[in-house]
Amino acid sequence: MPAARPPMTRISTCRSRKAESIVKILLSEDELREGVDRLSRQIAAQWGQRPMTIVGVLTGCIVFLADLIRRLDIPLRVDLIQASSYRGATTRGNLTIDAALQSDIRGHDVLLVDDIFDTGHTLVEVLAELKRHQPASIRTAVLLYKEGRQEVEFEPEFVAFRIPNQFVVGYGLDYRDEFRNLPFLAILEPEDLPDPPPDDRGAEG
Ligand code: 5GP
Ligand code: MG
Repeated sequence: MPAARPPMTRISTCRSRKAESIVKILLSEDELREGVDRLSRQIAAQWGQRPMTIVGVLTGCIVFLADLIRRLDIPLRVDLIQASSYRGATTRGNLTIDAALQSDIRGHDVLLVDDIFDTGHTLVEVLAELKRHQPASIRTAVLLYKEGRQEVEFEPEFVAFRIPNQFVVGYGLDYRDEFRNLPFLAILEPEDLPDPPPDDRGAEG
């Protein structure tokens, strides 16, 4: 069934006090809820009752992580790791991983949780960092998988939504650190912004 034309909504930027921007809703609150429900059932079915250590990738994972953990009836603990990529003149930015918030995962069964799988480099590098700490196992769950963008061999085990190659904000994802608090997922087009993005696409991670 073809998707209904997404409705238009008007939102305002928060810190910058720019003029209002127009965004298109890609996934509504209801669709996000259903997708995270579906994903949590898949994870629970495969995981069983083994204790789980969730490692969330800051900052984009926060809303997804908060919703996902409340749907998992599994003994679990939550760790956080920060990954930020600087997208400069080169096509792929340098990734900085800050594991200061992360506790010992040696021998733990880990579920790595991130907001979006785009080129895939972030997740692959975070995985390599986590593997250095010798967990018993690591699997990966992402809210969004952007079609046709991947530059790595790796594929995440659990994906809530496959989306077209467009820049999205809301439900934790930012544009220049704004819009994370939108309860829905919106497509942000350069022409919808009063101040169009330069070469980089402005996500802080
Ligand atoms: P990758 O390393 O897979 O190319 O990029 C992953 C990171 O880039 C994500 O965790 C996210 O921080 C950022 N990113 C990629 N695509 C988008 C997008 O459409 N919107 C936003 N807000 N961030 C994105
Ligand atoms: Mg991120």
